[in-house]
Amino acid sequence: MLQSIKARLLAIFLSLSIFSVSIFIFSFLLIRNNEEKFMKVNADIDAINKSMLRDIKVTRDFFANETINSYYFESGESEYLKAHIKIMSAMRSGLKSLRKKDTDLGLELKEDCETLEQDLDLYAKTIDTIIAQINIRGFKDYRLEGRMRELAHQLEDLKDALGAEAVLTLRKHEKDFIIRQDDIYQIKFHLQANAMKQKLQADGGKRNAELAEIIDRYSSKFDSLVTFDKIIGLKSQQGLKKRIDKLAERTDHTLTQLLNNAYAKGHESLIQLQNIIIFFWVMIALIGIGICILLAQKVSSSIISLKEKMNEFISSDFTTRTVIPIKDSSYEIDVLSNNFSILEQHIVNQMRALRVKNKEMEMFIYRAAHDVKTPLTSLNKILERSKRLSEEPMVMEQLEKGNNIVESLKDILEELSLVRSIHAGTPEVTEIDAYSIVKKCISGFQAMKGFDDIVFRTNIRMQNGFFSDIKFIRIILRNLIENSIKYRNSKGGTPFVDICFEELENRMVKITVTDNGIGIKKEHQKNIFDMFFRVTDETTGNGLGLYIVQNALQKLHGAIKVKSEEGKGSSFIVYLPDATRTSSPAQRIIENKIVFPSRDEFALDYL
Ligand code: ADP
Repeated sequence: MLQSIKARLLAIFLSLSIFSVSIFIFSFLLIRNNEEKFMKVNADIDAINKSMLRDIKVTRDFFANETINSYYFESGESEYLKAHIKIMSAMRSGLKSLRKKDTDLGLELKEDCETLEQDLDLYAKTIDTIIAQINIRGFKDYRLEGRMRELAHQLEDLKDALGAEAVLTLRKHEKDFIIRQDDIYQIKFHLQANAMKQKLQADGGKRNAELAEIIDRYSSKFDSLVTFDKIIGLKSQQGLKKRIDKLAERTDHTLTQLLNNAYAKGHESLIQLQNIIIFFWVMIALIGIGICILLAQKVSSSIISLKEKMNEFISSDFTTRTVIPIKDSSYEIDVLSNNFSILEQHIVNQMRALRVKNKEMEMFIYRAAHDVKTPLTSLNKILERSKRLSEEPMVMEQLEKGNNIVESLKDILEELSLVRSIHAGTPEVTEIDAYSIVKKCISGFQAMKGFDDIVFRTNIRMQNGFFSDIKFIRIILRNLIENSIKYRNSKGGTPFVDICFEELENRMVKITVTDNGIGIKKEHQKNIFDMFFRVTDETTGNGLGLYIVQNALQKLHGAIKVKSEEGKGSSFIVYLPDATRTSSPAQRIIENKIVFPSRDEFALDYL
């Protein structure tokens, strides 16, 4: 089972990789195989072409050598003829293999192959015809020329009766024709033969008639020879010889055509093949992208749903469980959901326990404050009375100190009651008039020691209305301003306190209280919000002010951070959301990307 995202992604990646590598190898082999086949087709055509050229040469050699070779006419054997037959058979089998490859590869060269076959048949037949004609015509003592020469020799033997010059002239014309193939010699031959016959007829007699008949037969054989020479046309490059040359040329042209077509068709089908392969690659890429999108959607939808559940849980102040069903799966997001569910349960339990403890604590503080308050008031009264009874300055001084201690104890009790009332109270939302609140808060400290030395500066940059609980804001401001007055630096220049209200995005308000007082050491800054924490015991404070500020801010879903440098001053920055906003504090922080308190643990506790 592929449960983890990594395993799923890896599986998809691997299968796509294997698939594309296989397609790559397959396409590579297919293209190479086809290229090889096309090369073989070209090789076949080339072989036929070469055979054709060889045959042209062989037949030419045959015409040049065997037509004047007595041995050929005597035996009928010729190496050239044998070679010609072999070449023709090779060409036919080459053509057959070409046709097969054409059918296999679907190159559609059938028409060209048929034309070539027809050309070759005609070429071969014409060569057969010319050979047959050459064989009938013969040479010197063989066949037609042989029979004609027999008659010519008979006439030569009878040259005494016919006249040696006349017979020689007749033979000369015959030989001239054979050598030059010019019609004039045929005419001259007949003129001479006729002249000789006329003379014999004029002389009369049986013997002369026999001689005239020999001349006739000689003439007739000569005419046949002339006719054969013209049909064959070897010397004149006419007749069958001319036809063979033309057919060879035509076959050569057909072969060139075939080669061009084969190349074009091969190229075309390779391009087609490449296109098909590209199509497959694109499909694989698209499928890959599709699968990745689906997976991403599936993963992100689970994460989004988990995020929503988390926000829901945070919005409920970590009190209500979102109840994510526990899945028996090792899939990371399910594991995350399960862990969140467990965490949620744990937090809810802890929160419940904490709330019970808080309630108990509050009750304890309330009761303690209430129970201690009455004896303290009585003690105060006793001390006051004792002061009136004694005149002794030393006793008066001690009684005054005791009175101060009782007063500060009462202050502590009051502030503890304030903490309780903050916890118990629910914010009442009204529109805040920042200017008037700041003014009232400052004037509330008029009686405080050092107030008159301090320069108060107020900067209210609020355009829109801001809603919150006025009581809590007063508590926050009062404590921060009181500290600024309390911890002023009397040894430095003129002490000042700057109070600034500023609107942020998303209906948030930033309140800054800055002073040039004694400042806080870095190592103490993380503790100043703790209950009863004081930097030194020499201060007049009881260590509850900032704790109360923090509690009030908790109620308003706000946050605070401090920037301070010892000897230079401090700046307390408060972030407050508009109370009419609906989003949860955690969402606000995520959306606004505001860096909340620099004390990370506080931020964590708080959120
Ligand atoms: P306290 O009532 O003692 O002032 P707080 O909780 O208000 O208690 O403050 C805690 C401690 O933080 C103080 O004891 C003081 O040392 C320090 N502190 C708070 N505000 C300032 C300030 N503006 N300047 C210097 N120190 C401050």
